[in-house]
Amino acid sequence: MNLLHRFSQFHKVSFSSLQFRLTLELVSLSILGLSSVAFWAGWQMEKNLVAAHKQTLEYIARSFPEQLQFYTQENSLETGLEKIIDKVATPELIVWVKNSQGELLAQSSTNHFLPEFQAVESFFQVPEKPQVIKFNNRDIVLCGTPLMINQNFIGKLYLSQDITSDQQKLNLSIWRLSLISIGTITILIMVICYRIGESLRPLKQMSEVARVISADDLSGSKLGLNQAPQEILGLAQAFNEMLLRLSGSWEQQRQFVGNVSHELRTPLTIIAGYLQSVLRRSDNLSTHQIQALETATNETEKTIRMLQDLLDLARADSGHLHFRCHPIMLNTLIIEVAQMSQKVTQRKINLTLTDEDVITCADQDRLQQVLINLVDNALKYSSPPHPIDIILAKTTDSALIHVQDYGVGITLTHQKRIFERFYRVDESRNRSQNGTGLGLAIAKSLTEAMEGSITVRSSPEEGSIFTVTLPIWRTS
Ligand code: ADP
Repeated sequence: MNLLHRFSQFHKVSFSSLQFRLTLELVSLSILGLSSVAFWAGWQMEKNLVAAHKQTLEYIARSFPEQLQFYTQENSLETGLEKIIDKVATPELIVWVKNSQGELLAQSSTNHFLPEFQAVESFFQVPEKPQVIKFNNRDIVLCGTPLMINQNFIGKLYLSQDITSDQQKLNLSIWRLSLISIGTITILIMVICYRIGESLRPLKQMSEVARVISADDLSGSKLGLNQAPQEILGLAQAFNEMLLRLSGSWEQQRQFVGNVSHELRTPLTIIAGYLQSVLRRSDNLSTHQIQALETATNETEKTIRMLQDLLDLARADSGHLHFRCHPIMLNTLIIEVAQMSQKVTQRKINLTLTDEDVITCADQDRLQQVLINLVDNALKYSSPPHPIDIILAKTTDSALIHVQDYGVGITLTHQKRIFERFYRVDESRNRSQNGTGLGLAIAKSLTEAMEGSITVRSSPEEGSIFTVTLPIWRTS
Protein backbone atom coordinates (compact mmCIF):
# COMPACT_ATOMS: atom_id res chain seq x y z
CA MET A 1 0.00 0.00 0.00
CA ASN A 2 2.91 2.25 0.90
CA LEU A 3 4.56 1.53 -2.45
CA LEU A 4 1.29 2.26 -4.28
CA HIS A 5 1.02 5.52 -2.35
CA ARG A 6 4.57 6.53 -3.31
CA PHE A 7 3.87 5.58 -6.94
CA SER A 8 0.75 7.74 -6.97
CA GLN A 9 2.66 10.66 -5.42
CA PHE A 10 5.47 10.34 -7.96
CA HIS A 11 3.25 10.04 -11.02
CA LYS A 12 0.59 12.40 -9.66
CA VAL A 13 -2.04 9.67 -10.11
CA SER A 14 -4.97 9.64 -7.75
CA PHE A 15 -6.42 6.23 -6.84
CA SER A 16 -9.93 7.61 -7.15
CA SER A 17 -9.28 9.04 -10.63
CA LEU A 18 -11.08 7.69 -13.68
CA GLN A 19 -7.69 7.13 -15.34
CA PHE A 20 -6.48 4.92 -12.49
CA ARG A 21 -9.72 2.94 -12.27
CA LEU A 22 -10.00 2.36 -16.02
CA THR A 23 -6.34 1.37 -16.28
CA LEU A 24 -6.62 -0.98 -13.32
CA GLU A 25 -9.77 -2.63 -14.67
CA LEU A 26 -8.46 -3.08 -18.21
CA VAL A 27 -5.05 -4.27 -17.03
CA SER A 28 -6.64 -6.79 -14.63
CA LEU A 29 -9.00 -8.03 -17.36
CA SER A 30 -6.11 -8.41 -19.83
CA ILE A 31 -3.97 -10.28 -17.30
CA LEU A 32 -6.89 -12.54 -16.40
CA GLY A 33 -7.85 -13.16 -20.06
CA LEU A 34 -4.34 -13.81 -21.37
CA SER A 35 -3.22 -15.97 -18.46
CA SER A 36 -6.44 -18.05 -18.72
CA VAL A 37 -5.78 -18.63 -22.44
CA ALA A 38 -2.13 -19.54 -21.77
CA PHE A 39 -3.10 -21.85 -18.91
CA TRP A 40 -5.84 -23.52 -20.97
CA ALA A 41 -3.50 -23.98 -23.97
CA GLY A 42 -0.79 -25.58 -21.77
CA TRP A 43 -3.31 -27.87 -20.10
CA GLN A 44 -4.80 -28.89 -23.47
CA MET A 45 -1.36 -29.63 -24.94
CA GLU A 46 -0.47 -31.87 -22.01
CA LYS A 47 -3.83 -33.63 -22.25
CA ASN A 48 -3.33 -34.28 -25.98
CA LEU A 49 0.19 -35.61 -25.45
CA VAL A 50 -0.90 -38.07 -22.76
CA ALA A 51 -3.97 -39.09 -24.79
CA ALA A 52 -1.81 -39.84 -27.84
CA HIS A 53 0.52 -42.09 -25.83
CA LYS A 54 -2.35 -43.88 -24.15
CA GLN A 55 -3.94 -44.56 -27.53
CA THR A 56 -0.67 -46.03 -28.83
CA LEU A 57 -0.39 -48.39 -25.85
CA GLU A 58 -4.04 -49.39 -26.17
CA TYR A 59 -3.55 -50.13 -29.83
CA ILE A 60 -0.43 -52.27 -29.16
CA ALA A 61 -2.19 -54.12 -26.34
CA ARG A 62 -5.22 -54.82 -28.58
CA SER A 63 -3.25 -56.05 -31.58
CA PHE A 64 -0.69 -58.07 -29.55
CA PRO A 65 -2.72 -61.36 -29.22
CA GLU A 66 -3.55 -61.39 -32.94
CA GLN A 67 0.09 -60.98 -33.89
CA LEU A 68 1.19 -63.59 -31.33
CA GLN A 69 -1.24 -66.08 -32.79
CA PHE A 70 0.25 -65.45 -36.23
CA TYR A 71 3.87 -65.90 -35.06
CA THR A 72 3.21 -69.00 -32.95
CA GLN A 73 1.90 -70.88 -36.01
CA GLU A 74 5.49 -71.57 -37.05
CA ASN A 75 7.43 -70.81 -33.83
CA SER A 76 7.33 -71.68 -30.20
CA LEU A 77 5.50 -69.33 -27.81
CA GLU A 78 8.76 -67.79 -26.47
CA THR A 79 10.18 -67.14 -29.97
CA GLY A 80 6.87 -65.74 -31.13
CA LEU A 81 6.74 -63.43 -28.12
CA GLU A 82 10.33 -62.23 -28.67
CA LYS A 83 9.68 -61.51 -32.34
CA ILE A 84 6.61 -59.36 -31.68
CA ILE A 85 8.27 -57.61 -28.75
CA ASP A 86 11.28 -56.76 -30.96
CA LYS A 87 8.87 -55.41 -33.54
CA VAL A 88 6.85 -53.13 -31.24
CA ALA A 89 9.47 -52.11 -28.66
CA THR A 90 11.32 -48.82 -29.00
CA PRO A 91 13.92 -47.15 -26.76
CA GLU A 92 10.99 -45.48 -24.91
CA LEU A 93 8.53 -48.37 -25.03
CA ILE A 94 9.35 -51.37 -22.88
CA VAL A 95 7.36 -54.59 -23.27
CA TRP A 96 7.46 -57.71 -21.11
CA VAL A 97 5.26 -60.71 -20.62
CA LYS A 98 4.88 -62.84 -17.48
CA ASN A 99 3.06 -66.13 -17.08
CA SER A 100 0.42 -66.80 -14.45
CA GLN A 101 3.14 -67.77 -11.93
CA GLY A 102 4.77 -64.40 -12.39
CA GLU A 103 7.76 -65.78 -14.31
CA LEU A 104 9.17 -63.66 -17.10
CA LEU A 105 8.39 -65.20 -20.54
CA ALA A 106 9.87 -62.49 -22.76
CA GLN A 107 10.98 -58.86 -22.63
CA SER A 108 12.30 -56.06 -24.84
CA SER A 109 16.01 -55.46 -24.69
CA THR A 110 16.26 -51.97 -26.13
CA ASN A 111 16.10 -49.89 -22.97
CA HIS A 112 18.70 -49.61 -20.27
CA PHE A 113 16.01 -48.56 -17.82
CA LEU A 114 14.38 -51.95 -18.33
CA PRO A 115 15.06 -53.51 -14.90
CA GLU A 116 14.09 -50.28 -13.23
CA PHE A 117 10.86 -50.06 -15.21
CA GLN A 118 9.93 -53.60 -14.52
CA ALA A 119 10.31 -52.83 -10.83
CA VAL A 120 7.32 -50.53 -11.22
CA GLU A 121 5.18 -53.60 -10.78
CA SER A 122 6.29 -54.04 -7.20
CA PHE A 123 5.35 -50.45 -6.32
CA PHE A 124 2.14 -49.95 -8.22
CA GLN A 125 -0.96 -51.92 -8.92
CA VAL A 126 -0.45 -51.94 -12.70
CA PRO A 127 -3.68 -50.66 -14.28
CA GLU A 128 -5.37 -52.47 -17.16
CA LYS A 129 -6.03 -49.22 -19.01
CA PRO A 130 -2.95 -47.03 -19.71
CA GLN A 131 -2.29 -44.47 -17.03
CA VAL A 132 0.43 -41.90 -16.35
CA ILE A 133 2.54 -42.48 -13.27
CA LYS A 134 5.58 -40.72 -11.85
CA PHE A 135 8.36 -43.14 -11.06
CA ASN A 136 11.98 -42.32 -10.18
CA ASN A 137 11.52 -38.77 -11.53
CA ARG A 138 10.34 -40.06 -14.86
CA ASP A 139 6.88 -39.87 -16.42
CA ILE A 140 5.64 -43.26 -17.55
CA VAL A 141 2.46 -44.41 -19.26
CA LEU A 142 1.86 -47.90 -17.92
CA CYS A 143 -0.63 -50.71 -18.48
CA GLY A 144 -0.80 -54.46 -17.91
CA THR A 145 -3.45 -56.51 -19.78
CA PRO A 146 -4.15 -60.27 -19.71
CA LEU A 147 -2.75 -62.04 -22.83
CA MET A 148 -5.11 -64.68 -24.31
CA ILE A 149 -4.86 -66.76 -27.46
CA ASN A 150 -7.85 -68.87 -28.49
CA GLN A 151 -9.43 -68.48 -25.04
CA ASN A 152 -6.16 -69.75 -23.43
CA PHE A 153 -4.58 -67.55 -20.81
CA ILE A 154 -0.90 -67.10 -21.69
CA GLY A 155 0.08 -64.54 -19.08
CA LYS A 156 0.11 -60.83 -18.61
CA LEU A 157 1.40 -58.28 -21.15
CA TYR A 158 3.07 -55.21 -19.65
CA LEU A 159 3.60 -52.05 -21.66
CA SER A 160 5.53 -49.13 -20.28
CA GLN A 161 6.15 -45.99 -22.33
CA ASP A 162 8.66 -43.43 -21.05
CA ILE A 163 7.24 -39.98 -21.96
CA THR A 164 9.73 -37.95 -19.89
CA SER A 165 11.46 -36.32 -22.86
CA ASP A 166 8.11 -35.48 -24.51
CA GLN A 167 6.96 -34.05 -21.20
CA GLN A 168 10.14 -31.97 -20.97
CA LYS A 169 9.61 -30.65 -24.49
CA LEU A 170 6.05 -29.83 -23.58
CA ASN A 171 7.17 -28.03 -20.39
CA LEU A 172 9.61 -26.03 -22.48
CA SER A 173 6.80 -25.06 -24.84
CA ILE A 174 4.58 -24.11 -21.89
CA TRP A 175 7.44 -22.04 -20.41
CA ARG A 176 7.87 -20.24 -23.75
CA LEU A 177 4.13 -19.69 -23.95
CA SER A 178 4.19 -18.16 -20.46
CA LEU A 179 7.08 -15.86 -21.41
CA ILE A 180 5.26 -14.75 -24.56
CA SER A 181 2.10 -14.17 -22.49
CA ILE A 182 4.04 -12.07 -19.92
CA GLY A 183 5.62 -10.06 -22.76
CA THR A 184 2.24 -9.53 -24.41
CA ILE A 185 0.67 -8.52 -21.07
CA THR A 186 3.49 -5.99 -20.45
CA ILE A 187 3.05 -4.46 -23.91
CA LEU A 188 -0.73 -4.45 -23.41
CA ILE A 189 -0.40 -2.67 -20.05
CA MET A 190 1.81 0.01 -21.61
CA VAL A 191 -0.57 0.49 -24.54
CA ILE A 192 -3.61 0.60 -22.23
CA CYS A 193 -1.96 3.18 -19.90
CA TYR A 194 -0.93 5.33 -22.86
CA ARG A 195 -4.28 5.13 -24.64
CA ILE A 196 -6.33 5.87 -21.49
CA GLY A 197 -4.03 8.80 -20.67
CA GLU A 198 -4.47 10.13 -24.21
CA SER A 199 -8.25 9.66 -24.21
CA LEU A 200 -8.63 11.51 -20.92
CA ARG A 201 -6.27 14.34 -21.90
CA PRO A 202 -9.10 16.58 -23.24
CA LEU A 203 -10.92 16.18 -19.92
CA LYS A 204 -7.78 17.27 -18.06
CA GLN A 205 -7.40 20.21 -20.44
CA MET A 206 -11.01 21.12 -19.71
CA SER A 207 -10.50 21.11 -15.97
CA GLU A 208 -7.26 23.12 -16.32
CA VAL A 209 -9.02 25.77 -18.39
CA ALA A 210 -12.02 25.78 -16.04
CA ARG A 211 -9.72 26.14 -13.01
CA VAL A 212 -8.09 29.34 -14.23
CA ILE A 213 -11.30 31.06 -15.34
CA SER A 214 -12.16 33.78 -12.87
CA ALA A 215 -15.25 35.94 -12.57
CA ASP A 216 -13.37 38.76 -14.29
CA ASP A 217 -12.68 36.91 -17.52
CA LEU A 218 -15.89 34.89 -17.78
CA SER A 219 -16.99 36.55 -21.01
CA GLY A 220 -13.65 36.05 -22.79
CA SER A 221 -13.16 32.45 -21.65
CA LYS A 222 -13.92 29.57 -23.90
CA LEU A 223 -12.85 25.95 -24.07
CA GLY A 224 -11.23 25.27 -27.43
CA LEU A 225 -10.99 21.49 -27.87
CA ASN A 226 -11.38 20.95 -31.59
CA GLN A 227 -9.31 17.75 -31.65
CA ALA A 228 -11.25 16.10 -28.82
CA PRO A 229 -13.63 13.14 -29.33
CA GLN A 230 -17.31 13.78 -30.02
CA GLU A 231 -18.49 13.13 -26.44
CA ILE A 232 -16.00 15.60 -24.95
CA LEU A 233 -16.75 18.18 -27.64
CA GLY A 234 -20.40 18.04 -26.57
CA LEU A 235 -19.39 18.59 -22.96
CA ALA A 236 -17.07 21.47 -23.93
CA GLN A 237 -19.87 23.10 -25.92
CA ALA A 238 -22.30 22.81 -22.99
CA PHE A 239 -19.57 24.25 -20.73
CA ASN A 240 -19.00 27.22 -23.09
CA GLU A 241 -22.74 27.93 -23.20
CA MET A 242 -22.85 27.83 -19.40
CA LEU A 243 -19.90 30.29 -19.27
CA LEU A 244 -21.81 32.63 -21.56
CA ARG A 245 -24.91 32.46 -19.35
CA LEU A 246 -22.81 32.97 -16.21
CA SER A 247 -21.04 35.91 -17.80
CA GLY A 248 -24.41 37.48 -18.64
CA SER A 249 -25.79 37.14 -15.14
CA TRP A 250 -22.46 38.27 -13.63
CA GLU A 251 -22.62 41.41 -15.77
CA GLN A 252 -26.23 42.02 -14.70
CA GLN A 253 -25.23 41.59 -11.07
CA ARG A 254 -22.38 44.11 -11.44
CA GLN A 255 -24.67 46.62 -13.09
CA PHE A 256 -27.21 46.07 -10.35
CA VAL A 257 -24.65 46.66 -7.57
CA GLY A 258 -23.37 49.77 -9.37
CA ASN A 259 -26.88 51.18 -9.87
CA VAL A 260 -28.00 50.42 -6.31
CA SER A 261 -24.84 51.98 -4.86
CA HIS A 262 -25.30 55.04 -7.01
CA GLU A 263 -29.00 55.40 -6.15
CA LEU A 264 -28.43 54.92 -2.41
CA ARG A 265 -25.40 57.14 -2.09
CA THR A 266 -27.19 60.42 -2.94
CA PRO A 267 -30.06 60.17 -0.36
CA LEU A 268 -27.62 58.85 2.26
CA THR A 269 -25.28 61.77 1.67
CA ILE A 270 -28.25 64.12 2.19
CA ILE A 271 -29.22 62.26 5.38
CA ALA A 272 -25.61 62.45 6.65
CA GLY A 273 -25.59 66.20 5.88
CA TYR A 274 -28.83 66.78 7.83
CA LEU A 275 -27.60 64.68 10.75
CA GLN A 276 -24.36 66.65 10.92
CA SER A 277 -26.18 69.99 10.81
CA VAL A 278 -28.56 68.86 13.59
CA LEU A 279 -25.53 67.76 15.63
CA ARG A 280 -23.87 71.15 15.11
CA ARG A 281 -26.96 72.83 16.56
CA SER A 282 -27.43 70.35 19.42
CA ASP A 283 -27.66 72.83 22.32
CA ASN A 284 -31.26 71.92 23.18
CA LEU A 285 -30.73 68.13 22.82
CA SER A 286 -30.24 65.66 25.68
CA THR A 287 -27.00 63.61 25.97
CA HIS A 288 -28.92 60.49 24.95
CA GLN A 289 -30.25 62.21 21.82
CA ILE A 290 -26.77 63.48 20.92
CA GLN A 291 -25.34 59.94 21.30
CA ALA A 292 -28.08 58.52 19.09
CA LEU A 293 -27.44 61.17 16.45
CA GLU A 294 -23.68 60.51 16.56
CA THR A 295 -24.24 56.77 16.10
CA ALA A 296 -26.60 57.44 13.19
CA THR A 297 -24.04 59.80 11.59
CA ASN A 298 -21.19 57.27 11.99
CA GLU A 299 -23.23 54.43 10.53
CA THR A 300 -24.45 56.60 7.66
CA GLU A 301 -20.91 57.72 6.85
CA LYS A 302 -19.69 54.14 7.03
CA THR A 303 -22.45 53.05 4.65
CA ILE A 304 -21.63 55.92 2.26
CA ARG A 305 -17.96 54.81 2.28
CA MET A 306 -18.99 51.25 1.51
CA LEU A 307 -21.29 52.40 -1.30
CA GLN A 308 -18.44 54.51 -2.70
CA ASP A 309 -16.17 51.42 -2.58
CA LEU A 310 -18.82 49.33 -4.32
CA LEU A 311 -19.27 52.01 -6.94
CA ASP A 312 -15.50 52.18 -7.50
CA LEU A 313 -15.37 48.40 -7.91
CA ALA A 314 -18.32 48.36 -10.30
CA ARG A 315 -16.68 51.12 -12.36
CA ALA A 316 -13.32 49.32 -12.33
CA ASP A 317 -15.03 46.10 -13.49
CA SER A 318 -16.77 47.81 -16.35
CA GLY A 319 -13.64 49.81 -17.26
CA HIS A 320 -15.33 53.14 -16.43
CA LEU A 321 -12.94 54.09 -13.64
CA HIS A 322 -10.74 56.82 -15.08
CA PHE A 323 -7.05 56.93 -14.30
CA ARG A 324 -4.92 59.99 -14.89
CA CYS A 325 -1.56 58.29 -15.04
CA HIS A 326 1.61 60.36 -15.08
CA PRO A 327 5.15 59.93 -13.74
CA ILE A 328 5.19 60.08 -9.94
CA MET A 329 8.18 60.22 -7.63
CA LEU A 330 7.38 57.49 -5.13
CA ASN A 331 9.84 58.82 -2.52
CA THR A 332 7.70 61.97 -2.16
CA LEU A 333 4.36 60.16 -2.38
CA ILE A 334 5.30 57.77 0.40
CA ILE A 335 6.38 60.63 2.69
CA GLU A 336 2.96 62.25 2.08
CA VAL A 337 1.13 58.99 2.82
CA ALA A 338 3.12 58.54 6.04
CA GLN A 339 2.37 62.11 7.12
CA MET A 340 -1.34 61.74 6.38
CA SER A 341 -1.53 58.48 8.31
CA GLN A 342 0.49 59.89 11.19
CA LYS A 343 -2.25 62.51 11.70
CA VAL A 344 -4.79 59.85 12.72
CA THR A 345 -2.57 57.70 14.96
CA GLN A 346 -0.21 57.99 17.87
CA ARG A 347 1.68 54.94 16.60
CA LYS A 348 5.10 55.31 15.05
CA ILE A 349 5.23 55.07 11.28
CA ASN A 350 8.80 54.33 10.11
CA LEU A 351 9.91 55.21 6.62
CA THR A 352 12.73 53.52 4.71
CA LEU A 353 13.42 55.15 1.37
CA THR A 354 15.93 54.50 -1.40
CA ASP A 355 18.83 56.88 -2.02
CA GLU A 356 17.92 57.29 -5.64
CA ASP A 357 14.55 58.51 -6.89
CA VAL A 358 12.03 55.86 -7.81
CA ILE A 359 9.60 56.94 -10.49
CA THR A 360 6.55 55.07 -11.69
CA CYS A 361 3.67 55.96 -13.96
CA ALA A 362 0.43 55.94 -11.94
CA ASP A 363 -2.64 57.89 -10.89
CA GLN A 364 -1.44 59.75 -7.80
CA ASP A 365 -4.82 59.83 -6.01
CA ARG A 366 -5.58 56.17 -6.69
CA LEU A 367 -2.12 55.05 -5.57
CA GLN A 368 -2.44 57.14 -2.44
CA GLN A 369 -5.84 55.52 -1.81
CA VAL A 370 -4.23 52.06 -2.09
CA LEU A 371 -1.35 52.88 0.27
CA ILE A 372 -3.54 54.62 2.84
CA ASN A 373 -5.80 51.58 2.81
CA LEU A 374 -2.80 49.29 3.49
CA VAL A 375 -1.47 51.52 6.29
CA ASP A 376 -4.99 51.76 7.72
CA ASN A 377 -5.23 47.93 7.77
CA ALA A 378 -1.74 47.66 9.29
CA LEU A 379 -2.87 49.97 12.11
CA LYS A 380 -6.20 48.12 12.56
CA TYR A 381 -4.71 44.63 12.73
CA SER A 382 -1.74 45.35 15.00
CA SER A 383 -1.65 47.01 18.38
CA PRO A 384 0.56 49.52 20.17
CA PRO A 385 3.44 49.83 20.82
CA HIS A 386 4.33 48.10 17.53
CA PRO A 387 5.24 50.55 14.76
CA ILE A 388 4.27 50.36 11.09
CA ASP A 389 7.06 50.25 8.51
CA ILE A 390 6.74 51.66 5.01
CA ILE A 391 9.67 50.57 2.86
CA LEU A 392 10.45 51.70 -0.66
CA ALA A 393 12.67 49.41 -2.74
CA LYS A 394 13.64 49.06 -6.35
CA THR A 395 14.64 46.26 -8.75
CA THR A 396 15.73 46.66 -12.37
CA ASP A 397 12.16 46.85 -13.67
CA SER A 398 9.95 47.38 -10.65
CA ALA A 399 9.28 49.69 -7.78
CA LEU A 400 8.27 47.94 -4.56
CA ILE A 401 6.36 49.51 -1.70
CA HIS A 402 6.16 47.30 1.41
CA VAL A 403 3.72 48.10 4.21
CA GLN A 404 4.72 46.02 7.20
CA ASP A 405 3.06 45.52 10.55
CA TYR A 406 3.80 43.31 13.58
CA GLY A 407 0.24 42.38 14.41
CA VAL A 408 -2.14 39.41 14.27
CA GLY A 409 -0.93 38.13 10.87
CA ILE A 410 -2.93 36.00 8.45
CA THR A 411 -2.86 32.22 7.97
CA LEU A 412 -1.96 30.81 4.55
CA THR A 413 -5.54 29.70 3.83
CA HIS A 414 -6.87 33.21 4.43
CA GLN A 415 -4.00 34.87 2.53
CA LYS A 416 -5.36 33.30 -0.66
CA ARG A 417 -8.78 34.88 -0.13
CA ILE A 418 -8.36 38.27 1.53
CA PHE A 419 -8.36 40.08 -1.84
CA GLU A 420 -11.86 38.74 -2.57
CA ARG A 421 -14.78 41.10 -2.14
CA PHE A 422 -16.38 41.10 1.33
CA TYR A 423 -13.94 38.45 2.55
CA ARG A 424 -12.98 39.00 6.15
CA VAL A 425 -10.78 36.65 8.14
CA ASP A 426 -12.56 36.59 11.44
CA GLU A 427 -15.98 38.22 11.24
CA SER A 428 -16.43 38.53 15.02
CA ARG A 429 -12.98 40.04 15.58
CA ASN A 430 -13.19 42.29 12.52
CA ARG A 431 -16.59 43.74 13.30
CA SER A 432 -14.96 45.75 16.05
CA GLN A 433 -12.41 47.00 13.49
CA ASN A 434 -15.05 48.86 11.52
CA GLY A 435 -14.27 47.36 8.11
CA THR A 436 -16.33 46.19 5.15
CA GLY A 437 -14.06 43.58 3.57
CA LEU A 438 -13.81 45.68 0.39
CA GLY A 439 -10.57 47.60 1.04
CA LEU A 440 -8.12 45.01 -0.30
CA ALA A 441 -10.38 44.13 -3.25
CA ILE A 442 -10.34 47.80 -4.28
CA ALA A 443 -6.59 48.09 -3.66
CA LYS A 444 -6.02 45.08 -5.93
CA SER A 445 -8.37 46.39 -8.61
CA LEU A 446 -6.74 49.83 -8.62
CA THR A 447 -3.17 48.51 -8.59
CA GLU A 448 -3.85 46.11 -11.44
CA ALA A 449 -5.50 48.88 -13.44
CA MET A 450 -2.16 50.76 -13.10
CA GLU A 451 -0.33 47.66 -14.42
CA GLY A 452 0.94 46.74 -10.98
CA SER A 453 0.26 43.95 -8.53
CA ILE A 454 -0.30 43.51 -4.83
CA THR A 455 0.86 40.56 -2.74
CA VAL A 456 0.97 39.53 0.90
CA ARG A 457 3.41 37.62 3.08
CA SER A 458 2.29 36.93 6.60
CA SER A 459 2.74 34.74 9.66
CA PRO A 460 0.04 34.45 12.30
CA GLU A 461 0.89 36.40 15.46
CA GLU A 462 4.06 37.79 13.82
CA GLY A 463 2.67 40.28 11.34
CA SER A 464 2.13 40.91 7.65
CA ILE A 465 3.91 42.60 4.76
CA PHE A 466 1.74 43.86 1.90
CA THR A 467 3.76 44.69 -1.21
CA VAL A 468 2.62 46.91 -4.07
CA THR A 469 4.72 46.36 -7.19
CA LEU A 470 4.64 48.89 -10.02
CA PRO A 471 6.67 49.15 -13.21
CA ILE A 472 9.55 51.63 -13.20
CA TRP A 473 8.94 54.58 -15.47
CA ARG A 474 11.59 55.17 -18.13
CA THR A 475 11.94 58.29 -20.19
CA SER A 476 12.75 56.54 -23.47
P1 ADP B 1 -11.56 45.24 6.08
O1 ADP B 1 -12.40 46.41 5.79
O2 ADP B 1 -12.26 44.16 6.82
O3 ADP B 1 -10.24 45.63 6.69
P2 ADP B 1 -10.00 44.50 3.81
O4 ADP B 1 -10.39 44.10 2.44
O5 ADP B 1 -9.13 45.68 3.94
O6 ADP B 1 -11.31 44.60 4.65
O7 ADP B 1 -9.26 43.26 4.47
C1 ADP B 1 -9.83 41.97 4.36
C2 ADP B 1 -9.45 41.14 5.57
O8 ADP B 1 -8.04 40.88 5.51
C3 ADP B 1 -9.62 41.84 6.88
O9 ADP B 1 -10.94 41.59 7.36
C4 ADP B 1 -8.58 41.27 7.78
O10 ADP B 1 -9.07 40.10 8.40
C5 ADP B 1 -7.48 40.86 6.81
N1 ADP B 1 -6.37 41.82 6.83
C6 ADP B 1 -6.15 42.85 6.00
N2 ADP B 1 -5.00 43.49 6.31
C7 ADP B 1 -4.48 42.85 7.36
C8 ADP B 1 -3.29 43.02 8.15
N3 ADP B 1 -2.43 43.98 7.92
N4 ADP B 1 -3.08 42.14 9.16
C9 ADP B 1 -3.95 41.13 9.41
N5 ADP B 1 -5.08 40.91 8.71
C10 ADP B 1 -5.34 41.77 7.70
